[in-house]
Amino acid sequence: PARFLNRTRQAGWLPPSLMHRVLTTLSWARKIDRFTMMDSFSLELVNFDTQKMETPDIRGVEYQKGTLLGTEIRAYLLNKWDGLCAYCGKEGREVEHLTPRSRGGTNRISNLVLSCQACNEAKGSRSVDEFLAKRPAVLKRIQAQQRASLHDAAAVNATKTWLVRELRRFGSPVETGSGAQTAFNRAQQGYDKAHWTDAACVGDSGAAVAVHPLQPLLIKSMGRGNRQMCGTDRYGFPA
Ligand SMILES: [Zn+2]
Repeated sequence: PARFLNRTRQAGWLPPSLMHRVLTTLSWARKIDRFTMMDSFSLELVNFDTQKMETPDIRGVEYQKGTLLGTEIRAYLLNKWDGLCAYCGKEGREVEHLTPRSRGGTNRISNLVLSCQACNEAKGSRSVDEFLAKRPAVLKRIQAQQRASLHDAAAVNATKTWLVRELRRFGSPVETGSGAQTAFNRAQQGYDKAHWTDAACVGDSGAAVAVHPLQPLLIKSMGRGNRQMCGTDRYGFPA
């Protein structure tokens, strides 16, 4: 009988390729903490904070003012639609309401797609069903894509959830931010794009940081050799 389904894994198990990211980060957090006594952690948790985009008034001054929210929504749509118009497939930059505002459509992310200016004007104040009445295939594709989530983010999210939980054990506050928030913070302060300036601009605390006198500490992860218990000769026999 098949014996491959009788293996159990601990809850929250991560594949080794992802686990090593968690462990490397944790061991460096421990090393740096020993010398500098870090008082808080800021971690970029997701590319786009879809929960905040759905309910923009939950917290945060920038979200209430709408500047960061607008940036985040546009960045999310550009990513989701690959910068292409949902209706015609040409390059698009407009944030487009499926059900228009004048007909009771909301600003929720589920009502928004990306479109080009021509399609945006052609659609006018019609709903998407009316606009695409003669192009049912396009309508179907848009509805399918609205339902689809960002699957590729799932593995990364699993890693980050692990990391947040482990960092909390240090006892210092752990704040989290979205990638779009990082980009917004960096742009507001006029810093050049680099991995380390991005790292400095993560989260709410990243809205006001002085990076210029700083130098990044660059860390290179090296393998530790292979995991084979016994080497083989060139014919595959144990050496
Ligand atoms: Zn178009």
